[in-house]
Amino acid sequence: MKDIIRIAIDGPAGAGKSTMAKLLAKEMGIEYIDTGAMYRAVALKLLRSGTDYNDPEALAAMLKDTDVDFSGGQVMLDGEPVEAFIRTPEVSETASASSAVLAIREKLVALQRAMGQRKSVVMDGRDIGTNVLKDAECKIYLDASPRVRAERRAKELAAKGLPCDIDAVEADIRQRDFRDMHREHNPLAKAEDAAVIDSSYLTIEQVVSVMKAVIEERCR
Ligand code: C5P
Repeated sequence: MKDIIRIAIDGPAGAGKSTMAKLLAKEMGIEYIDTGAMYRAVALKLLRSGTDYNDPEALAAMLKDTDVDFSGGQVMLDGEPVEAFIRTPEVSETASASSAVLAIREKLVALQRAMGQRKSVVMDGRDIGTNVLKDAECKIYLDASPRVRAERRAKELAAKGLPCDIDAVEADIRQRDFRDMHREHNPLAKAEDAAVIDSSYLTIEQVVSVMKAVIEERCR
């Protein structure tokens, strides 16, 4: 195996990227970088500060004083651990919409590139293999059908005792996919040299095992 291995995992929301990326990073003893959490942290700051991301001056002023980092595996916004606040529907919606704004992407992509420069990482997101780490040693595109992703989300909500309308969840997933795939800057796309894994009918263990085989083959 090479000294430095950067593994880029892209794919739509709910395909299982973060679950798999976390497991892989732990097994390989390398760092996991959840770039979605970084867009969510910025969305949280937009909401908290009432900043309009469509107002270039207000956004630039906010971003100038914004730091997003990881400490002990936790995403930090200006030094504050914010994992507990970034998974709400409001933050999800704001992150999905504001991540299309170029100034936000430029800021976070620069931070992500710096994080992936000198050490081995597993980084997941939408534009890692196509943009952030174009020269990653191993690229994986993890997919699953919108219906299966909606069913997984419904199960998570049911486990929390929250009722949900599965058709509405699927419609929401399709809308986010559309936004991710059709935005002007760094849209979600499969890198030409990415291995595609469809997790729709695979268990977590099966997906990890296929990923490990891909990594073994590409990073030898
Ligand atoms: O992966 P997650 O759902 O946590 O990402 C939150 C939002 O950030 C998504 O809606 C997606 O549009 C955006 N995102 C992005 N580029 C990335 C990672 C996430 O635009 N590399």
